[in-house]
Amino acid sequence: MGAVTITFLGGTETVTGSRFIVSSPSATVLVECGMFQGLHEIEKRNWDEFKVKPEDIDAIILSHAHLDHCGYIPLLVKHGYKNPIFGTFYTEKLAGVILHDSARLQMHEAEYRKESLSSKMPALYNTIDVEKALSLFRSKAFHEKVSVAKNTFVTFYPSGHILGSAFLVLEMEESRILFTGDMGRDNHPLLVPPETPGERSFDAVVTESTYGDRRHETPVSAFAHEINKAISRGGSILIPAFAVDRTEVILMALRELIENGGIPLTPIYVDSPMALAALNYYRQAIADGAPEIRDSVREKFAGVDPFDPGNLREMYSAEDSKKIDALERSSIVVSASGMATGGRVLHHLANMLPDSENTVILVGYQSAGTRGQALLRGDEKIKIHGKWVEVRAHIASVEAFSVHADVDELVNWLKKIGTVEKALIVHGETDSQLALKSRLENEFSWLVKIPKTDQIISI
Ligand SMILES: [Zn+2]
Repeated sequence: MGAVTITFLGGTETVTGSRFIVSSPSATVLVECGMFQGLHEIEKRNWDEFKVKPEDIDAIILSHAHLDHCGYIPLLVKHGYKNPIFGTFYTEKLAGVILHDSARLQMHEAEYRKESLSSKMPALYNTIDVEKALSLFRSKAFHEKVSVAKNTFVTFYPSGHILGSAFLVLEMEESRILFTGDMGRDNHPLLVPPETPGERSFDAVVTESTYGDRRHETPVSAFAHEINKAISRGGSILIPAFAVDRTEVILMALRELIENGGIPLTPIYVDSPMALAALNYYRQAIADGAPEIRDSVREKFAGVDPFDPGNLREMYSAEDSKKIDALERSSIVVSASGMATGGRVLHHLANMLPDSENTVILVGYQSAGTRGQALLRGDEKIKIHGKWVEVRAHIASVEAFSVHADVDELVNWLKKIGTVEKALIVHGETDSQLALKSRLENEFSWLVKIPKTDQIISI
């Protein structure tokens, strides 16, 4: 004991860039390998030198495929990382979708910076680096204790956050550490609720805190209400949605509302190639009976598409996407990215925001510095592709579709995991981290810490 340490290289004081080095005298593994996103000062950290030599890392272990957990992998591979990457089957599949999209975006932005002479920062990586990274993936089943390095084992458990997502138990030498990854909710329409671990005693729990100070209070009925108001004005509805999972959850809700008469049969457009690629993996997981899919979903949707109430249009090409601008009747457009930081949603925002008949419904976390956050706080104009766009459309926010546990859900789950020596709070803005810390100190006898960037903590 005492020989195992965790070095917190990211995911500290921010919700992005999760990177935790866990070391013992016999092995070094990297749990999560995420990209920093959001404000420019945070994003810039992706270009900093990595504190550990890539060739000194024996394994990378991933909780799930979101970019803030896996987006830095291709750069480590470019710099010499050659060992395996462990995650579940659908984490590997969705990481393929997300990393390819990220590489395309990287190359596009580097080209833009060069042309506009704004800076010389190069692309972090390209599609060849992504292909190399994907060749190192070794997907593993849930519940299987896997040897990942000398005297080091990992077990994945369903966490109900996105397809393939896991919380993980890392056993290194004599120490046992639980990483929550991003913790999901009991009410995900497709995924089984977060499980509890087989083991019941931990030297440390590294827990996320995205909603450490908040409860999800707006119900689905508020969503239907906003859609109906926009339709009655003759307007359309734009839903910026994270490409992986949020799109699926939104489509499930729209199908149900249409089927039970909560909203009229309205054309639904999904306009994001990445979301559509992910959607097909969700369809595959349901058809194949993946273990993280609810039995009820598998039974109800055998041979039926759970995402299509009969009017779903999938817009793969840029030409298809442009056709949406010319629509005459009220429509619902679901497009990425969820915080309006990039992607085709920008084009739709520029087109739809100036018209007061339309409604933009924000359905996810909007981090500091994003256009999504500017809309949420009521800015009267926002900048898109270098031009100011007037905001006359209605802006609504519906939290019912969050795929992150809120503070009560997270604390209730932590109560089920058994005895814990210390809790280490990551993956949250400072206010959320502090709120969760005081809540845990009140309700548990655990030692609770908020690690700083680059801090090393002995387990
Ligand atoms: Zn996530």
